[in-house]
Amino acid sequence: MFCLKNRKTECRGFTLAELLIVVAIIAVLVAVSIPIFNTQLKKASLATCEANRRSLKADLSAIYLNNLNADDVKTEYDLVKDNYTCPDGGIISYKLDEATGVITMSCSKHSDTGELIDI
Ligand SMILES: [Zn+2]
Repeated sequence: MFCLKNRKTECRGFTLAELLIVVAIIAVLVAVSIPIFNTQLKKASLATCEANRRSLKADLSAIYLNNLNADDVKTEYDLVKDNYTCPDGGIISYKLDEATGVITMSCSKHSDTGELIDI
């Protein structure tokens, strides 16, 4: 119901049908937006986890290249692993191939194999 101040008819606000239409429109918008929001939240968690794994890999690779010692890499990992966490609570771990010096990072929650594809 549309009311103007100078109108002579009595203005009592919205009708029940108008309110129901507004509530229905809001319900449809919420129903559409919640799945989209959840999808974006999962993508953000995955991107954060991958960024943390890349940072930790760079840190561990620098230690290994400077010292060429797997024990130093393990010590560094124990020191800094709490700074690079998975937002979904996954456990980030590493695997060092001493023959090639390649460090592979993995997360227990993200991706089927848990491996981070090298870039
Ligand atoms: Zn993760």
